[in-house]
Amino acid sequence: MSYTPPEFLVDLLKAKSPSGAEGQAQSVFDKHVESEADSYERDTLGNRIATLEGDGGPSVMYSGHLDELGFIVTYINDDGFLYFATIGGHDRIIIPGRRILIQTENGIVKGVTGKRAVHLMNAKDREKVPQVNEMWIDIAAKDKEDAESRVQVGDVATYDHEFELIHGSVGAARAFDNKCGAYIVGETLRRLAKDKKSFKAKVISVGTSQEEIGVRGATTSSYGVNPDFAVAVDVGHSTDHPDCDKRKFGATKLGAGPIITRGPNINPIVFEKLIAAAKKRDIPYQLEGDPRPTGTDARAIQMARAGVATGLISVPLRYMHTPSEMVDLEDVEHCVRLLVGFSQDLEPGETGNW
Ligand SMILES: [Zn+2]
Repeated sequence: MSYTPPEFLVDLLKAKSPSGAEGQAQSVFDKHVESEADSYERDTLGNRIATLEGDGGPSVMYSGHLDELGFIVTYINDDGFLYFATIGGHDRIIIPGRRILIQTENGIVKGVTGKRAVHLMNAKDREKVPQVNEMWIDIAAKDKEDAESRVQVGDVATYDHEFELIHGSVGAARAFDNKCGAYIVGETLRRLAKDKKSFKAKVISVGTSQEEIGVRGATTSSYGVNPDFAVAVDVGHSTDHPDCDKRKFGATKLGAGPIITRGPNINPIVFEKLIAAAKKRDIPYQLEGDPRPTGTDARAIQMARAGVATGLISVPLRYMHTPSEMVDLEDVEHCVRLLVGFSQDLEPGETGNW
C-alpha cells in the first residue's frame, strides 16, 4: 500500500517561510492547531502559542520552529539583476542554477540564481565556490525599472523545490528543517486534545519563529510561557550516508526513530522521562551526545529566566540545509507518539530540579 503523508505536514512543507517572513507557515499552524487548543496566542515575534490546560499537572512547552532558510533581496543593479543575502546557514555550493520563488506584495515572482557559465571560467575559477555577491537572481527583467516594478529590496525568496515521496515513507523536500518539528508539536497537541482525560500536564505547543538566525522566537516565547519542562523538536543529522565519519558525527539512521539528545543542554530528568516514555510504548529511538549548547531552540529555552528543564528530540534527516532534505516520515510519526506519551506520563508536583 502506498504511504499517505499527513495533510498538516504537507501544508507546512508547501508554506514558504524564511526567518522573519513566516506568515504562510503561521497560517497553516493556525488552520490546523488553533481550533484544537484551549487558548491560542500570536506574539510580536510571530510565535504561535497553543495551550491545553490539563488537570493540575506541571507545564510543558514543546517548540518546533516555523521558519526556514531563504534569501533576501539587497540590491537591484542598473540591468535589473537582483543581488541578495542569505537567510540562515546556506552551503554556497548549492545556491547557483536554481529556480527560486520571490515573495512580493503582488505575489510570487519567479527567478533563477545565476552565475558565470563553466565555459567562461579559467582553471582557477573552476576550483572555487562563488561568494554570495558573485551570484545574482535573474527575473528576466529588461532593466532596473522593470525589475523594481516587480520586486523590492527586502523581498524574500526560497528555492522552488517541493515535497515529494521518493520511496515508501521516505520523502525529499525543501525545509523539512523544521516543518517536521512544527508539525510534531502541533500534531501532539491535536492528538492530546482528542483525549483530554489521558493527561494532567498543561501542554503548550509553540510554533517558534526565527530559529535559523539565532533561536529568537524560542528566546521570547519561553520567557513568556515560563514552563516547568520543555522539549525542543528539530531535525538532526542522519549520518548513514557516504562521506560522514561516524567517529566525528556519531551513528544515526533514517527510519530508526527519534534522536534523543544527551549533554549539558539537556536536563537529565527530562532525558530519562523521554527514554521511559519511548520504552513503555515500544517507540524506537536513537541516542546522540552533544557536548555544547545545541544548535536548536533547546539552547534558548534551557536558559530562559531561572532555567527550564529542557530536552531535545530530532527527526533524523540527510542533506540538511539543502533543497533536497530527506526524511522518513515514519520517524516523524514516532516523534508525535513520543511527545504524546511524555505528556501523559507527567504527574502533578513533578519538577526537573536535580
Ligand atoms: Zn536548520
